[in-house]
Amino acid sequence: MISLYHFSTHSATHPVDKFSGLGYTMMVIIEFFMPIKLYNTMSRQIEEFKPIKKGRVGLYTCGPTVYNFAHIGNLRTYVFEDILKRVLKFNGLKVKHVMNITDVGHLTSDADEGDDKMEKGAIREGKTAWQIADFYTEAFRSDMQELNIEEPDIWCRATEYVKEQIGLIKKLEKKGFTYQTLDGIYFDTTKLADYGKLANLKKQDLRAGVRVGVGDKINPADFALWKFSPPLVKRQMEWDSPWGIGFPGWHVECSAMATKHLGQPFDIHCGGIDHVPVHHTNEIAQSEAAEGTALANYWMHGEFLIIANGDKMAKSGDNFLTLQVLKNKSFGPLSYRYLLLQTHYRKQLMFSWDAVASAQTGLERLVNAIAHIPTVVDGAQEKKFIEQFISLINDDLNIPEALGLLWNALNKKIIGQKTAFLIDEVLGLDLKRQIARLSEPKSDLPDSIKMLIAERDRARANKDWRLSDELREKLETLGYNVKDTNDGAVVTSNFVS
Ligand code: AMP
Ligand code: ZN
Repeated sequence: MISLYHFSTHSATHPVDKFSGLGYTMMVIIEFFMPIKLYNTMSRQIEEFKPIKKGRVGLYTCGPTVYNFAHIGNLRTYVFEDILKRVLKFNGLKVKHVMNITDVGHLTSDADEGDDKMEKGAIREGKTAWQIADFYTEAFRSDMQELNIEEPDIWCRATEYVKEQIGLIKKLEKKGFTYQTLDGIYFDTTKLADYGKLANLKKQDLRAGVRVGVGDKINPADFALWKFSPPLVKRQMEWDSPWGIGFPGWHVECSAMATKHLGQPFDIHCGGIDHVPVHHTNEIAQSEAAEGTALANYWMHGEFLIIANGDKMAKSGDNFLTLQVLKNKSFGPLSYRYLLLQTHYRKQLMFSWDAVASAQTGLERLVNAIAHIPTVVDGAQEKKFIEQFISLINDDLNIPEALGLLWNALNKKIIGQKTAFLIDEVLGLDLKRQIARLSEPKSDLPDSIKMLIAERDRARANKDWRLSDELREKLETLGYNVKDTNDGAVVTSNFVS
């Protein structure tokens, strides 16, 4: 039913087209119909995925608010989205992936109150809001790279699309969906009969007439489209608009940028589960009110990573776990990715140090096992394996069972390396490179130190001298001397052996 190894089509619904040259070196021809099934938060059902344009997918994923490092909870959502994208591509679909960078307008409270997170970050670090945005955008991209998350085709920074956001608000104003208060322009959620349908919000919670904090919104669920700069305050990030100087609301940015690049409706919109009741609900409201069509056909949400004591992962305090914190404890980013792959994206995942430690051991075992199998095992069982693998990943991204299938196949010795590398295009565990590293001469430096050196090399390549100096100091505190040479950094231990 399946013939190896050159891919060209998905199925009857996604026929071969000139866009299937995806840059993957090995793929599979699926000679029979193998639908992709995805859970759609909007319908609350698993549905067969049918793209708007044959063979193509428009994908929008809500990106980070760049006022601090991403925590490992945030990163779980991006890994889920990466798996989704890889599964779509593996099925021969050409994906156009757009991700925003929220560098303005995300307030500390989702109820449109509090400070702008960016301006707060700027005060915290004594930098400008623009410097904060640049620094944490780069930090985020570095996290993505280390987790082997593919970059989007289009990055869009909210501050670069203010014109489009104003355009959307004007459209809503013209259609009578907005009103003005002392502190901004708001969307009147009672003007939309099905407001809250994504989250199934109950009408009684959306009652009018409740006074809600600053700005005197008419209804609790109404949300800011444009916020005025406070009187007598010169914000770092502010723009002129038909309503006065200020800045756009958080939700309006995603609607404006997604449709600018993907049109309306587009195929799939993703984010973390917390986006269902507020951020995505409001994106849907304003985009549907403006255009009279759905914003996206499929809404997908990743469940939360929680920590063992049940606390919420936060961007401050003891629960602020970043990839760097993991690396400081000698856990590789790909070990964390492997941990994430073991739980279905729609299930909560409890983080613990024991769990990441056993994921690290599990990944090492996997790499070793694949390093010692033949290149090709020519047999019907291997083909059957690929067929089963695809049916699992196409079943609402059932990666945990697909991993189980892989282990089973390795134990039974029915697959070769070529097939293992093929499916790694979905798993993204960078198996080929990890196996190549096994034969590199071993350095006597501990892994945690090697990771710091690699991070410093990256910082230097990015001309991030501040980070590079910080990392040098860290290495020195840990007892290692760093000497930069034309051939790169030479690191020696101060410990006498
Ligand atoms: P933010 O940078 O706060 O805008 O969040 C970035 C992404 O991380 C969003 O898609 C959130 O829904 C998601 N997110 C936030 N906290 C968690 C968590 N604990 N686990 C998984 N995803 C999360
Ligand atoms: Zn968004």
